[in-house]
Amino acid sequence: MNRLILIKYGELSTKKGNRNYFINTLYNNLKYKLSSYNVKIDKDRARMTIHFSDTDLDDIKEIVGNTFGIHSYHVAYVCSSSADDIKETLLNIVRSIDFDTFKIETKRSNKSFPIHSQDFNRVLGGLLLKNIDNIKVDVHNPNLWIKVEIRDKETYIYYDSFAGKGGYPIGTQAKGMLMLSGGIDSPVAGFLTMKRGVKFDAVYFEAIPHTSLDAREKVISLCRKLASYTDCINLHIVNFTPIQEEIYKYCRDEYVITIMRRMMYRIMDLLCKKYDGKIIINGESIGQVASQTLTSMSVINEVTCVPVIRPVACMDKLEIMKIARDIDTYETSILPYEDCCTVFVPKHPVINPKLSVAKVEEEKFDFESLIKEAVDNLNTIKIFENDSENYNDLL
Ligand code: ATP
Ligand code: MG
Repeated sequence: MNRLILIKYGELSTKKGNRNYFINTLYNNLKYKLSSYNVKIDKDRARMTIHFSDTDLDDIKEIVGNTFGIHSYHVAYVCSSSADDIKETLLNIVRSIDFDTFKIETKRSNKSFPIHSQDFNRVLGGLLLKNIDNIKVDVHNPNLWIKVEIRDKETYIYYDSFAGKGGYPIGTQAKGMLMLSGGIDSPVAGFLTMKRGVKFDAVYFEAIPHTSLDAREKVISLCRKLASYTDCINLHIVNFTPIQEEIYKYCRDEYVITIMRRMMYRIMDLLCKKYDGKIIINGESIGQVASQTLTSMSVINEVTCVPVIRPVACMDKLEIMKIARDIDTYETSILPYEDCCTVFVPKHPVINPKLSVAKVEEEKFDFESLIKEAVDNLNTIKIFENDSENYNDLL
């Protein structure tokens, strides 16, 4: 029997004037992701369909299930919109299913179809009762809930439903810049931002030799996981060592993290200008560590006017960890390699830093030229989901 995947749109279906822009972006994203398969994708304002080869169904379901902008999808059987053909197809479908109660729900967008939906439900229900033993109708809690959509040229019959990822298609918003460390929080922040349609470049600050190549490899692996939701991700690797060493040499111990983070934000500000990023995204969560108290955040944030989006700001660590497990970044994130924020952590980092003190401390070294050097000399690599290149000799 002929089948297709029937896609129902997510939140984009609430769009009015620019709905086509969202649908076209979803269409292009799916087309890119499915480019190595023999598929035909069609779209209209209410749904999308994908004709596929049977052997590819599992792969295609996985790709569709990981594409933002989709509320749900179904594997539907296709037949002509003649009553006889619908009846025959329905019987063929249900004969291979084990069930004892059922419900049939017909929708008729083809108003020239001669039988009303309610009446046709009864016709189809009667057909099943007559041909299959030991089944009965249950309209409230059926084992098998069959949907029949009668359209102009063809009819779709389906009984399964798979949840999509929801959100908006990636690329429907302007671009962002994600601060991606090797931890648990920032990949989750990246995932949640992609879900709102944002495409981003990732930025990783490393401090070799204080941090290792393994730590870099970990960030690259996380980037690959995130790339599975989009086409590819540009990862900018910033050499943070000279800045970090100056901070430790000149600044008060309890302010080193505050100042380090102000330097990162300054670099992010410049990278937003350089790569046309409209927002900075990071994995800060209110109160999680000393640098994420609201006082700390405001002192750190003071160096930039670019909006900072913190998707996990109001989540518990356990909630963040659950998402990390769901998107399969957790196991990579907990690998024990030092990040530049975790090497030389002071014994008592300031919890309520003062802006005036931070400013005095950072004036003790020439950070402007170091920041410029870091931005001028960064390395950018394009990360694809399935690439396995080794980037150890990058710097
Ligand atoms: P994570 O689990 O994401 O590492 P965290 O709880 O360890 O977060 P911090 O180390 O204070 O918290 O970092 C807060 C956020 O700052 C991170 O989520 C990330 O977005 C960004 N960040 C921290 N270190 C780096 C880094 N080395 N490179 C890029 N971004 C970083
Ligand atoms: Mg971290």
